[in-house]
Amino acid sequence: MIDQGTVWVCTDCYMAHHYGEPTTTEEGLQPMSLLVDFEVTDGLPANLHECSAAELASGDCQCGELNFSKTPCEGCGSTLAGAREALTLWSQEVDEAERDADLRDSALITRDDADRGR
Ligand SMILES: [Zn+2]
Ligand SMILES: [Zn+2]
Repeated sequence: MIDQGTVWVCTDCYMAHHYGEPTTTEEGLQPMSLLVDFEVTDGLPANLHECSAAELASGDCQCGELNFSKTPCEGCGSTLAGAREALTLWSQEVDEAERDADLRDSALITRDDADRGR
């Protein structure tokens, strides 16, 4: 598993992640729909915590919570300002040969598109 970074999601997405309940947000968006390709774990990775080691070990620090943010939710795209929770994304480890093949494929696609544009 590869750490793909941290995202901040709205409460709807956080609930959907935790309870897996199919709901829609106030804006009619599908919670977590932008993150379906990833494995998702709760909170921040240890290296992004700003709390003390003791707080981190206890698991109830506030580093992975924002009381108020105007940044769009990275789980569903909601632009409603409000609380955000941190989630860490993971993707399956990709076989290197497979990844190189994927890169070649995408390079070909790009070139084809460029040809068509002429
Ligand atoms: Zn912390
Ligand atoms: Zn959301």
